[in-house]
Amino acid sequence: MKDIHDECGVFGIWGHKDAATITYLGLHALQHRGQESAGIVTSDGETLHEYRQMGLVADVFTANVLHGLPGRSAIGHVRYSTAGSSTLLNAQPIRCVFDGGSLALAHNGNLPDFAALRAGLMRRGHVFHSSSDSEVLLHLIAASEAGSLVGRIRHMMTQARGAYSIVMLTGRELVACRDPQGFRPLVVGRLDGAPVVASETTGLDLIGATYEREVEPGEILIADEAGERSHPMPAPAPGATPAAPARCVFEHVYFARPDSLVFGRQVYLVRKELGRQLAREQPVPGAETVIPVPDSGVGAAVGFAEQAGLPFEMGLIRSHYVGRTFIEPESRIRHFGVKLKLNPVRAVIEGRSVVVVDDSIVRGTTSRKIVQMVRSAGAREVHMRISSPPTRWSCYYGIDTPSRDELVAARIPDMHPLACELTADSVGYLTAPGMHHAVSGDPEGTGYCDACFTGRYPLPVPEGYDPKKC
Ligand code: SF4
Repeated sequence: MKDIHDECGVFGIWGHKDAATITYLGLHALQHRGQESAGIVTSDGETLHEYRQMGLVADVFTANVLHGLPGRSAIGHVRYSTAGSSTLLNAQPIRCVFDGGSLALAHNGNLPDFAALRAGLMRRGHVFHSSSDSEVLLHLIAASEAGSLVGRIRHMMTQARGAYSIVMLTGRELVACRDPQGFRPLVVGRLDGAPVVASETTGLDLIGATYEREVEPGEILIADEAGERSHPMPAPAPGATPAAPARCVFEHVYFARPDSLVFGRQVYLVRKELGRQLAREQPVPGAETVIPVPDSGVGAAVGFAEQAGLPFEMGLIRSHYVGRTFIEPESRIRHFGVKLKLNPVRAVIEGRSVVVVDDSIVRGTTSRKIVQMVRSAGAREVHMRISSPPTRWSCYYGIDTPSRDELVAARIPDMHPLACELTADSVGYLTAPGMHHAVSGDPEGTGYCDACFTGRYPLPVPEGYDPKKC
């Protein structure tokens, strides 16, 4: 129930007779990461075959389309645009032919300095077909004069600073790589002996693949006829500071599916721990019932209720037949969408003091509607509890958050006026150390990005940067 847009999901498999169909299934399990477009590129050992279309995976790929994608290797992508507009031209995987052959690329992440990189390439004669930052990555690889594909990717990595978990396909190789700070997740698994890569482990679970490990930050993994080779990030030059890992903590708070392992941790268990910590930090004296905002608030509400010794109830029921609110373009419709998606269960709310647990508050419009919905179902008191710190800063690393002036916690930093804005009896957030302690056991959050909560950006953001204007 967020006004934050999801990002993208990537998938790849090398050396399996059902490569296209498996990629279709893998993308289906990553659908929560992007609903605007879907695409698959396969390799028959020589030629790349592609199909991309706007829409959901199940609508884009029919049996006939999958039959038209031959070969034993494939990559796929589901997209929500964080840079570049929502058109078929920006759908992925994208493809090019260069002096090294054909190359297709699917990208999850965002490059804050993409406009400058693109302008530099255009001055050198490069022609772009899309407005996506992913095409810049493709051009940087193609333009490199390194003698090998790994060399070309390394060259790209020295130029592009930002968030990128990438899968690539040539006629003969599958490549997976992750930016040196590892903002976005990427995992490796195996199916019938074939290596599989996916944004989240749910992409492996659905196809029956076994999880092996994360692709490490800065790693390039190549699979071809000769086997698999991992190229770890080179050691920094003498005197240079190595890039500090900056895994996105919001993957655990909201984005990833709860049944995924992300950055080596089970998301559902992390969310429960966030809820327990929230109950310790922000108790609600006299509360009688804990209800989640489904679906992303469920894990935290279970943890909150356990810690507080209160009954947990599904006091809001979500319709699964309505698209996420952010798909609808006009705010007038979005507000209506809250009612389309959620309905209160009066019998567990009426006459009670209710704690409503959600993972975050963005603009505040949805939260306000939910508070009003719970109150109109007869709640005596409504207390909002949020299993992350106030979202006061925009993300530049692949999550499409609104600008700062639209973030309600940036506009209204004090809790009492914020509760009034939301029409709640009280509102309480988790602290940043509390969040990090629940996620990793380290209250400092070492190795994680938390910039949307703290404003501590792990990479400088170009002045005046607005991903929506790219
Ligand atoms: Fe994730 Fe927030 Fe950092 Fe963006 S700013 S990468 S959403 S933690």
